[in-house]
Amino acid sequence: MGPDTPVQFLRGVGPGRAARLAKLGIRTLADLVRHFPRTHEDRRQTTRISDLRAEMHATVRGHVVTLRSRGLGGRRARSVVTATVDDGSGTVAAEFWNQPWRAEQLAPGAAVLLSGRVTWERGGPCLTSPEVEVLPEGDEEENLLHAGRIVPIHPLTHGIYATGMRALVHRALPLVADALEDPLPAGVRRERDLPDLASALREVHFPASYETLRAAVRRLKFEELFLLQVALARRRLRHATEDKPHVVVVDERLDARIRARFPFVLTDAQDRCVKEIADDLAAPRPMNRLLQGDVGAGKTVVAAHGMLAVVAHRLQAALLAPTEILAEQHHATLSRYLDGSQVRLGLITGSARSKQRRTTLAALAAHEIDIAVGTHALIQQDVTFAALALVIVDEQHKFGVLQRAALREKGLHPDMLVMSATPIPRTLTMTLFGDLDVSVLDELPPGRRPVETVLCREGDRRQAYDWVRREIARGRRVFHVVPLVEESDELPLRAAVQFREELAQHVFRDVAVGLLHGKMKGAEKDAAMEAFRRGETPVLVCTSVVEVGVDVPEATVLIVEHAERFGLAQLHQLRGRIGRGNLASRMICFHDAHTDEARARLHALAATTDGFRIAEEDLRIRGPGEFLGTRQSGVPELRLANLITDAPLLAAARRAAFDLVARDPGLLGEGAATGHALARTLSSLRD
Ligand code: ADP
Ligand code: MG
Repeated sequence: MGPDTPVQFLRGVGPGRAARLAKLGIRTLADLVRHFPRTHEDRRQTTRISDLRAEMHATVRGHVVTLRSRGLGGRRARSVVTATVDDGSGTVAAEFWNQPWRAEQLAPGAAVLLSGRVTWERGGPCLTSPEVEVLPEGDEEENLLHAGRIVPIHPLTHGIYATGMRALVHRALPLVADALEDPLPAGVRRERDLPDLASALREVHFPASYETLRAAVRRLKFEELFLLQVALARRRLRHATEDKPHVVVVDERLDARIRARFPFVLTDAQDRCVKEIADDLAAPRPMNRLLQGDVGAGKTVVAAHGMLAVVAHRLQAALLAPTEILAEQHHATLSRYLDGSQVRLGLITGSARSKQRRTTLAALAAHEIDIAVGTHALIQQDVTFAALALVIVDEQHKFGVLQRAALREKGLHPDMLVMSATPIPRTLTMTLFGDLDVSVLDELPPGRRPVETVLCREGDRRQAYDWVRREIARGRRVFHVVPLVEESDELPLRAAVQFREELAQHVFRDVAVGLLHGKMKGAEKDAAMEAFRRGETPVLVCTSVVEVGVDVPEATVLIVEHAERFGLAQLHQLRGRIGRGNLASRMICFHDAHTDEARARLHALAATTDGFRIAEEDLRIRGPGEFLGTRQSGVPELRLANLITDAPLLAAARRAAFDLVARDPGLLGEGAATGHALARTLSSLRD
């Protein structure tokens, strides 16, 4: 028997149990010993029943001597099962309310462990709804697994009990622990004083002490983070060894020519990022860079600078945006910058008619278009480029890793810049984008005033609207965000469509109210956005489709209905829709927050406009999986390590992994010194 042996061949596992174990992801013996406990219980001390005192938390071990099961009358069907357990020193009553099945579990004669709080009833000790484990009959050695030690509490599934799981893991450990290859190289282990895999596995399940348990958990977390980081280091190295066929040098003259196209002077932060990108463009290896900057920091112009440099070398650039509105906005912005120039722009979105689409695609393939701006439609199979040298992905967190890769493949080792307005906490950057270089736009364009955020209850509405009407009278625009498109019975939310009607009739009677939501057709959306931009509809009722990137400098008011329904990062993104010019702006959040979490979120929002602080807070509240949304397919599933609380361990694992890969790139191939365990684990990680 070895690590790859199916669990079914383990003593005590038949086909039925094997199927149940499979539900927990356990198929082989190796899976079984890596089925880590979710916690442990200190059962080193069992208490003699005669020593029980009221209010103690205690574990006792004995046999069921009597069992009584009663139904109680009353409005609801109620029952109570009482078992009397004897350990030779005395008896204790165990009571279970409304758990009639306990009567079967606790048949007289059964050997049991009970843990819980002791009360004193009818002159004797009693445990109410204690934790119960029925010990296997007669197997003294095995029974030592469940008491008299620090006991692992494993995740279970229907039909697999705690004692059964413990016994299986215990049986599998000696069969496979030593045979498993340790993915952590001995040197790395020694350097950090980490136990080897076999002892870590034994200790994580059946620890000798809490100290050895801690060491084992630390080592297993480290391993998890280390493997992830090796994969990232490897990916980075691979990109770094591909030569690109084109080199784009931005000399002073070209730089000046490009800048002359922009209606403002770049900020110092923009200057720095432009330079970092130019250096990458000129390097023989493809760029792989993340441009991070809070909403409104001015990423677009940095991207435009890079694209124009590429176009000046008679190459193509592509700009990928997550929504049609945003793609069109980028297209419009670039058109303005390029007014009167020779540069040819193309727009490729899903809503283009097929004939028009064919024409655009042909132009792209024939290099009659220099810069293609588009949505997902840009990464479809039938899109080909003549000379794609630079790929820019805006609001990249909206795209999966695979989509980014799809666009990369349309060029010959193109330079790649991904941009994100969702500030990503450092711990996540190290994992999600651990293979990228990072540029940070940490400065807003001059003259910006921080958006003021006010939290309102329903009672404040009239007063708030009075103020909003005054703003409109001064020529300002108002986004009015509602969470949903259609009214539904379960969610009595103000729906956009109906809500617009109400507003138009009762609140903003003398101004036009527009509507924008995700279910509208592309052309309708455009029209709504344009009317708002031009001020024809100074109020725009919308869903969170405006969340990303939309840029209307005159918009100074953002009202959010049911703010408690939005995530913190999403609210911050929404807030980024205003305060984009140099006018004072205000976000008004109507909310009905009932939970502490919702209140915490809203108060965090009101307390700061610093996107990085918001992101840290959001990550803390929601955890990394949720943080970037479900579409982010790059979020690794970590079983033990926690990206927030284990940040120092992550940093250490990253250093070790990058060192190792730098020293020994051969590790990437087969037959590496660390053996195939590492290679196998790596290949199972998504590239
Ligand atoms: P984001 O980083 O959120 O994508 P944008 O690129 O949309 O930000 O820029 C936000 C606004 O700031 C735009 O209206 C843009 O024209 C303006 N802007 C960008 N850079 C500067 C600058 N250096 N000086 C003045 N305004 C700028
Ligand atoms: Mg943007």
